[in-house]
Amino acid sequence: MDQNVDVLVVGAGPTGSTAAKYAAQGGAEVLLIEKRSEIGTPVRCGEGVAKRWLEEIGLSPSKEFVCHEVDGARVIAPDGSALVVDETRAGNECGYVLERALFDRYLAKEAAKAGAEIRIKTSAVGLLREDGHVVGARCEHMADTFDVRAPIVIGADGFESQVGRWAGLETHLRTRDIDACLQYTLVGVDGDARYNDIYLGSCAPGGYAWVFWKGADVANVGIGVNLSKIHDRADAKRYLDTLIARTPDLARGEVVEEVAGAVSVSMPLEKSIAPGVLLAGDAARLIDPLTGGGILNGCLSGKFAGEVAADAVSAGDVSEKGLAVYEKRWRARLEEELARHYLVKERLIRLDDATINRAIRAINEARLERVTAGAVLDAFRTHDPGLLAIFEGLL
Ligand SMILES: Cc1cc2nc3c(=O)[nH]c(=O)nc-3n(C[C@H](O)[C@H](O)[C@H](O)COP(=O)(O)OP(=O)(O)OC[C@H]3O[C@@H](n4cnc5c(N)ncnc54)[C@H](O)[C@@H]3O)c2cc1C
Repeated sequence: MDQNVDVLVVGAGPTGSTAAKYAAQGGAEVLLIEKRSEIGTPVRCGEGVAKRWLEEIGLSPSKEFVCHEVDGARVIAPDGSALVVDETRAGNECGYVLERALFDRYLAKEAAKAGAEIRIKTSAVGLLREDGHVVGARCEHMADTFDVRAPIVIGADGFESQVGRWAGLETHLRTRDIDACLQYTLVGVDGDARYNDIYLGSCAPGGYAWVFWKGADVANVGIGVNLSKIHDRADAKRYLDTLIARTPDLARGEVVEEVAGAVSVSMPLEKSIAPGVLLAGDAARLIDPLTGGGILNGCLSGKFAGEVAADAVSAGDVSEKGLAVYEKRWRARLEEELARHYLVKERLIRLDDATINRAIRAINEARLERVTAGAVLDAFRTHDPGLLAIFEGLL
């Protein structure tokens, strides 16, 4: 059962499948392993993505994985007032709701078409090392243990990643850098499926609640609450149930699926490479700390990791120096935005309900044509100057 490949990718989520595809396209012999018995399920995701992301990773919107398209989002203040952010006012930030299980399988199919071998029900359980370099991983399939030797291992093993820890990288997260999430898929709900809803304030301490539509009467209704703001993870359920109960359009729905999970709302890892190892996606803490969205950044970093891995193997240099270009590429594309969103998140989680109500009221009163940082500041200056000091530096 032992096997030799050029690149071993651990985890067949969006990050791993994208990495496997690009590594195979770059000429590497690739093995993609997934511990679950089915790629894509169970889905632990709100399934919302911005439109702009697809092109960047070489995909076109397809009925194979796009479930619903929305015109925009409504940001709902604690007092119930809503700020509508649609395509005309906010550009192409708004988006699609995916059929995530089908999306993950689509990406796995792309990886297979590019030449990657895929093995499900196969877990990495440790790394193989020689002379300080990682040279593959020990794997398990059912009751069998075997070694996969590979000059490069890509850790795409998600939020609970072990590959990074095994490689000696610092992956620890502080409590305040984790949001506990709970989501129901509700059927028979009412509402305007043209807009996804984002609920801010004490209804979701340190995070937000969402309604992402999957059709006219079906929605993913979920919540992310910051771990530092709750007593235990079960509190997420209490907050979500309370929000649904006080929202008649949602309360009439029935739960057909419940998923729990967590997202990092941290800065990205300080180091995402080690000799013979690249970490990508959630494993590298590349989730957007403001939105909790990680699909796009996972796919992008997976693409970079796959391309760099193939190049490094063909150049015969998988040292940390040889892999440094991977860090350079994802940092150049993602780091500034992630750092900015981290700072904004840190400030937002301290705002009280009254301030959020005032801010949304001021923006609505200004009837902005475009919701940009400058326009929002102008709105505050004109309609509620007291907000300027509170939001100073944030926008
Ligand atoms: C409730 C919730 C809602 C979310 N909503 C959104 C959203 O609306 N939009 C958005 O963009 N993001 C959302 N996210 C985040 C998004 O789901 C992740 O960022 C995304 O899945 C990251 O992809 P990934 O491939 O890096 O990790 P994952 O999708 O977690 O994939 C990792 C894979 O690795 C496998 N694996 C782990 N360990 C091993 C091992 N040792 N051996 C083999 N396989 C292994 C796992 O089984 C898994 O399949 C949400 C997250 C949660 C929890």
